[in-house]
Amino acid sequence: MNYSVRIQKLDPYLNVDPGTMSPYQHGEVFVTEDGAETDLDLGHYERFSESFLDKSANATSGKIYYSVINKEREGDYLGKTVQVIPHITDEIKKFITTNDEDNDIVITEVGGTVGDIESYQFLEAIRQLTLELGKNNCLSILLTYVPFIISAGELKTKPTQHAAIKLREIGIQPDILLCRSEKAFDEGIREKIALFTNVPKNSVINAIDVDSIYKVPFSFIKQNLQNIICNNLNMEDRPMDLTTWQKFIDFIDNPEDRIKVAICGKYVVHQDAYKSIVEAFVHAGVKNRLKVEIVWVDTEKINTQIKIEEILSKVNGILIPGGFDYRGAQGKIFSARYARENKIPFFGICLGMHIAVIEFAQNVCNLDGASSTEFDKQSRHPVIHIMKEQEYIQKYGATMRLGSYPCLLSEGSFIKDIYQNHLIKERHRHRYEFNNSYRNILQKKGFFVCGTSPDDMLVETVELTCHPFFIGVQYHPEFKSNPTNPHPLFTKFVECSYNNKIKNMKK
Ligand code: GLN
Repeated sequence: MNYSVRIQKLDPYLNVDPGTMSPYQHGEVFVTEDGAETDLDLGHYERFSESFLDKSANATSGKIYYSVINKEREGDYLGKTVQVIPHITDEIKKFITTNDEDNDIVITEVGGTVGDIESYQFLEAIRQLTLELGKNNCLSILLTYVPFIISAGELKTKPTQHAAIKLREIGIQPDILLCRSEKAFDEGIREKIALFTNVPKNSVINAIDVDSIYKVPFSFIKQNLQNIICNNLNMEDRPMDLTTWQKFIDFIDNPEDRIKVAICGKYVVHQDAYKSIVEAFVHAGVKNRLKVEIVWVDTEKINTQIKIEEILSKVNGILIPGGFDYRGAQGKIFSARYARENKIPFFGICLGMHIAVIEFAQNVCNLDGASSTEFDKQSRHPVIHIMKEQEYIQKYGATMRLGSYPCLLSEGSFIKDIYQNHLIKERHRHRYEFNNSYRNILQKKGFFVCGTSPDDMLVETVELTCHPFFIGVQYHPEFKSNPTNPHPLFTKFVECSYNNKIKNMKK
């Protein structure tokens, strides 16, 4: 039987959660089933562990301080002086150990770099915890960098030595080192690192850069990391069955063909902003034995119909991802129009669905000035708006419709066929909704509302008939895709994009 593991991340910054942080700075905001807005690393944790995490999996310094300050205001500390040690560190230890009786192992990642002022309290809490739990119940793994200096032609161990020294200054002796490097290092480097960091030689693991993140576990397994961890924790090293993962890697390396998919968005210079979408394409590509090449289209810069068409005429599928505010919206509307008119597979996610609705309202239903009130407060035809019933969630920061909600898919719809299910549950992160007053007008012209909340109040999915794949969803399917369970919508979208490629080749 596998060990049960809980994974969590501690982020040093002072924002209470990453919900209000710019994707340019911090990449994607990952959303859990229970609606926590978290660091994008949690997406990787879910994809690798094939399990769902929750609110208890991510804390920032801001969240910890917020909770302590609230308790202080409530008088919980009974007049004591409230201090980083022990009050903040106690709060951190409580966060790390909550529900630990349900799990064999808790893995806690601390973000940032050792020596950062912001992360000091986390490392101090870990130092205390190591002492309290005892040697074989607690293990510290330090991730370091071994840069290759091109002009000197050699790998340098100094940054690793100094990171370990810094950690020891705080009172933590690392048990294992994961040393990142572009090139593999030899025994000499391993010995040198071991000597200077006081870590046993076989526990100095070379985390060599690999071309796919899904190969990382195999590189560690080759160096026996699982065995070293189990030995350190006095646990039995149980066998792992990695056949499915091995196959997955083999398919990544040996695709039968390729397709090009355009992602038309605003944050394309920072591709981490669409991390889960990119990963979902890797999974769906493997399922179809295809490599999906992504063509990034910055709709803020490339925003004329002609320029957009020039780029989109070379791709096999078009996706508009989630996003916020009007910047880049016009370029996205052009992209949706091009996909609709030229029957190119189109996938609109959240804001992408809004764009599809606006485009159809403007160009097919002739609703002049149709828009979202997010872009134009005075729109004559606010086809996307904030519902009266939801105005109370208008404030910024953790006040959106967040997390998993059920959705009913209509009989006879393409999307129901794809899911092979009538009732689905998907994760949300948005404020604006399809305006129900326009449902009939759009449906009459062939734009179908095929998925709604069970009470039929909120539109969740839309699709065009007479089109190979034109689907918009109000939720974020990308969050639930992983290597062994690629998301059906991405899988079908990739399949249809490939069919589109083949069809065009025959022309
Ligand atoms: N900005 C839109 C809203 O708030 C869409 C959000 C998103 O794409 N995640 O409703």
